[in-house]
Amino acid sequence: MSIKTTCPYCGVGCGVLIEKTAQGGVTVTGDPEHPANFGRLCSKGSALGETLDLEGRLLAPQIGGQPATWDTALDLVAEKFRGAIRDHGPDSVAFYVSGQLLTEDYYIANKLMKGFIGSANIDTNSRLCMASSVAGHKRAFGADVVPCSYEDLETADLVVLTGSNLAWCHPVLFQRIAAAKEARPEMKIVTIDPRETATTALSDVHLAIAPDGDVALFNGLLAHLEASGAIDRAAVARHVEGLEQALIAAQASDLSKTGLSAAACAEFFDLWAKTPKVVTVYSQGVNQSGSGTDKVNAILNCHLATNRIGQPGTGPFSVTGQPNAMGGREVGGLANMLASHLDIENPAHRSAVHTYWKSPRICTKPGLKAVDLFEACAQGKIKALWVISTNPAVSMPDADFVADALKTVPFTVVSDIVARTDTGDLADVLLPATGWGEKSGTVTNSERRISRQRAFLPAPEQARPDWQILCQFAAKMGWGAQFSYATPAEIFREYATMTALSRRFGRALDLTGLAQLSGAGYDALEPVQWPVSVEGPRQDAARFFGTGGYFHPDHRARMVPVTAPDLKAVKGAFRLNTGRIRDQWHTMTRSGKSARLSAHLAEPFVEIHPEDAADLGVGAGELLMLSGGRAQGVFRALITTRAARGQLFAPMHWTRQNTRSSHVNALTLRTTDPVSGQPALKSGSVAARRYEAKWYGYLASVNAIDLDGLTNGEYAAKARTVTGYQAEIAGLHAAPSGDALTALFRQMTGRTLGEIAQVSDVKTGQTRLALTHEGQLVAALFMGPAPVSLSRAAVINTIGTQTPALMALAGRASAGMVDDGAIVCACFSVGVNALTRAIEAGAQSVAELGERTCAGTNCGSCRPELAAFLKVARPRIAAE
Ligand code: SF4
Repeated sequence: MSIKTTCPYCGVGCGVLIEKTAQGGVTVTGDPEHPANFGRLCSKGSALGETLDLEGRLLAPQIGGQPATWDTALDLVAEKFRGAIRDHGPDSVAFYVSGQLLTEDYYIANKLMKGFIGSANIDTNSRLCMASSVAGHKRAFGADVVPCSYEDLETADLVVLTGSNLAWCHPVLFQRIAAAKEARPEMKIVTIDPRETATTALSDVHLAIAPDGDVALFNGLLAHLEASGAIDRAAVARHVEGLEQALIAAQASDLSKTGLSAAACAEFFDLWAKTPKVVTVYSQGVNQSGSGTDKVNAILNCHLATNRIGQPGTGPFSVTGQPNAMGGREVGGLANMLASHLDIENPAHRSAVHTYWKSPRICTKPGLKAVDLFEACAQGKIKALWVISTNPAVSMPDADFVADALKTVPFTVVSDIVARTDTGDLADVLLPATGWGEKSGTVTNSERRISRQRAFLPAPEQARPDWQILCQFAAKMGWGAQFSYATPAEIFREYATMTALSRRFGRALDLTGLAQLSGAGYDALEPVQWPVSVEGPRQDAARFFGTGGYFHPDHRARMVPVTAPDLKAVKGAFRLNTGRIRDQWHTMTRSGKSARLSAHLAEPFVEIHPEDAADLGVGAGELLMLSGGRAQGVFRALITTRAARGQLFAPMHWTRQNTRSSHVNALTLRTTDPVSGQPALKSGSVAARRYEAKWYGYLASVNAIDLDGLTNGEYAAKARTVTGYQAEIAGLHAAPSGDALTALFRQMTGRTLGEIAQVSDVKTGQTRLALTHEGQLVAALFMGPAPVSLSRAAVINTIGTQTPALMALAGRASAGMVDDGAIVCACFSVGVNALTRAIEAGAQSVAELGERTCAGTNCGSCRPELAAFLKVARPRIAAE
């Protein structure tokens, strides 16, 4: 029998089915009955089964790097927190948690900190994801409510995607839109993004906006809506305040700040104005900005002014990055909120929560938001910190500052599933948490749909659920009676019951209809959108605000006058945009385990425009050194017109665990949005120069690769492969040779035994080494003065085989072996060479590529890239 659970990655919240195999493994498929995905999964979801092994897991508590019992570890944690609170007050301690947590975990962490410790110093990595949307919603609607449902994306006549590479970051939603467009080609997709992406490739219109030009663009749209008579004045009169002030601000806005031509703006405005059914989707490109909240309100203003909200196929739609960012918001997972969508600043709300929890105290003021929290750490104000299920030492802006700040905190606890993370390496105590397949609870996706995560694996060794760890800590602090839950179902019931407070104070969140769920009912809970009222499911739960009913005291929405920020270009600096890639998740602690996922983009890169690369003297395959703030990082130059001139894009996934110096968030600044406190992670300003490598290398190995033998200043990045591991390396100084080279080869591959064969190519200056042990090729290393050009797929395929050393060192597919080239389709490992062969054989469409190679026929995440590849490759092949 299959087990229904939910994908733990992005905010789409896809349902998955787990089947246990006879060999003890699991298969993961999309749940055809789940309303988020109807059976679809993206590449990451499809590869979940490959991330479940225990390699690298934290399986027992550790104190100072040494194993400890749970009792000893939690005694120490309680002693340190109690001591800090006694000597320095409740605000001297803090929790930093995660949108990866289940709602039940989140609820307990909040109750503990805000009601029992008595501080609001609990913030979450969701601050980095969607705090600006929360603030914008509250300003406009009076509550943090997402008014739309996914089906609105399919029924809209115009979908505007702004600040969202949906094709890579929310692939299943993008597939739903793409399928709707295929069925109704007249449906239009407009993507607003400074760079070309997989999403822009499938859009009707790409507006390559200037970074942070969104307020100017949507202000311009609002002014156009007024000028063209598209404002619904009757609806505004019934439901909305602030139109005139918002219009004055919009009409004063300077359209040139968009960086777009007047004609491009006019075309977009006209399309928007004339299309009643429009959904505007926004994500991190809007939120992660110094003007993020204003951007959100600029978008909401246009929808409120035209009453394009709450009707099928309409609305502003914030899609969250994390799987449970929404659940965290519901239970007060941000430092400035109380559980159940109540406000810390409101004495009546505080009193109600205090009474409901029967807690000894209640926080009296907002706590420290993420950036402020780590600054407080650096200032010595935080004496005990607990980081749960997240990795701030690499994911926060100015990450090296945060890592240094963590080193100064007198006592740091990290709960995680992974033994080695950049943050865990700095902790005094490590606590082993259960992972995705072992956890039970609920998550809420971007359309307010609550789904169950169900455990299908036993907790390994000493790992425990986060809620249980926190409850055991609470007991040691003396609050055992109030944290004596036996199951997550009990916690969920308490939380659902608590939403009666939200109702009492006229807020949107309502789960009272789930408050009486039995254990069996909780186990069987089907995906459900809130509100779920005690009076029964609301017929129109899919949408809010179709007939007004906003959550300000007068039940009217607010249009907020917003001013476009000045776009400051720093002379000589590049604008650094950061983001995600299709096949990795956050800091790769899970997705990095899958060789298939690592095959798509295997090393940290930076997209740079060809003319900028030429100006810097950087050629194909060479490396770029970026300097920003006080950090430097080295990245492979991906020279492409996808990047605009003067702009760079680098993904945020790589850490100190898999590279030497390529964690891009070290280069970003601690600038935040003044309203939401969300960091402006897409607004880095960096200097770039060619990394003057004296040598480049490529290593493939059966064994895990150790990068520690490389000295400072050298570039190194490693990844999984289907036969083991690979690493790209380079150095600024003379390449090691002779015994030093063979010693480095053995040290990096952890091999003291085995014979090394070595060949040198005088013409290219390349040195190639193969390490064979008992007839098996266990590693191969290619070093040369230029970027190593060889078929990595061919080399990887020889590792672990009996391939003779000299044949492997050819670095290309040998007779009888097919070289598929760089991987495009992760599900079926289809590379560019295989796609080229299919096009040569007559494939003319994405569907025909799929028929011939299987590419794009499983999860579909690569279809935008297949389309882009066809567009470029077909004319080239036809001309040959
Ligand atoms: Fe998981 Fe992909 Fe669905 Fe996101 S779109 S929830 S990553 S399967």
